[in-house]
Amino acid sequence: MRAMILPKIVSLAEVDDPLQLVDLPIPDPDQDEVLIRVSACGVCHTELDEIEGRTMPAKFPIVLGHEVVGKIEALGKRVSRFRKGDRIGVGWIHQSTGGVDENLSADFRATGRDTNGGYAEYMKVSEGYAYFIPDTFSDVQAAPLLCAGAIGYRALKLANIRDGDLLGLTGFGGSAHLVLQLAQYMYPNSEVYVFARDQATRDFALEQGAVWAGDTSQRSPEALDAIIDTTPAWKPLVEALINLRPAGRLVVNAIRKEDADKDYLLNLSYHEHLWMEKEIKSVANITHQDINEFLPIAAAIPIKSEVTCYKLEEANKALLELKYNTVRGAKVLLI
Ligand SMILES: [Zn+2]
Repeated sequence: MRAMILPKIVSLAEVDDPLQLVDLPIPDPDQDEVLIRVSACGVCHTELDEIEGRTMPAKFPIVLGHEVVGKIEALGKRVSRFRKGDRIGVGWIHQSTGGVDENLSADFRATGRDTNGGYAEYMKVSEGYAYFIPDTFSDVQAAPLLCAGAIGYRALKLANIRDGDLLGLTGFGGSAHLVLQLAQYMYPNSEVYVFARDQATRDFALEQGAVWAGDTSQRSPEALDAIIDTTPAWKPLVEALINLRPAGRLVVNAIRKEDADKDYLLNLSYHEHLWMEKEIKSVANITHQDINEFLPIAAAIPIKSEVTCYKLEEANKALLELKYNTVRGAKVLLI
């Protein structure tokens, strides 16, 4: 099968083709696993963290990709929930405890980091971590829901807002533009304020229904009850804290932060940014329960992902465009 592999950790500032197209054997599903013929795989910011070693793959070479959609091609003997031909998705957790806090388990294994993922024609997964895709969505529309959408759902739950509360989003990429649609559905009386560093992204946020969009360092016209940070940087986190009302909550929706602007943390003033019972909460990994709850809600809305498509062999181009923020919305490989 054709697959894009990551042979080793590299710096994307020095290397613009970290992945290589190779031919690999089709994986053989174990007794409780299904083999998927992959049709679409989303490109997630976490792939950049894997390529640059901020979250280290368990083996090399590794096939990245954890927003996977495809049809079941073969079944292990003990699989009972699925049949050949079913259309399913796979997310970030490839294997864990199955409990409600499985995303916090030290033993959880990540798709496309600890085991091969969806930047390939085939992949396998245990049936407990595969999800039926609602008919509402095409394969391409469904792919970003498996991570960007589902982690947004988890972040919104952790934001702990009530309908009518004011919500901020700092960063407005693949995940946040889905969170905005989710927030409009779950909290119809809540206004959404967006912070983004470039005008095109702010315009996109206003088109999508944000009531206000400003630069990362701007003050919002109202103090906000909660803000979700989907950026890899520190400045948006520090600036978001100022925009919270007393007892407001900042939810950091990122697996890793990058170090490029870490010095910005020195601007943190206890009095301005943290005092008045403000909280910071990080999002860990998405549970299978999050995905099972989120997909029917996404179908009811129905959420529409802004998607740019690439061929499998263009994965490096998609990753660089993600890193340098040159294309808005989500990115999906067609396989
Ligand atoms: Zn992801």
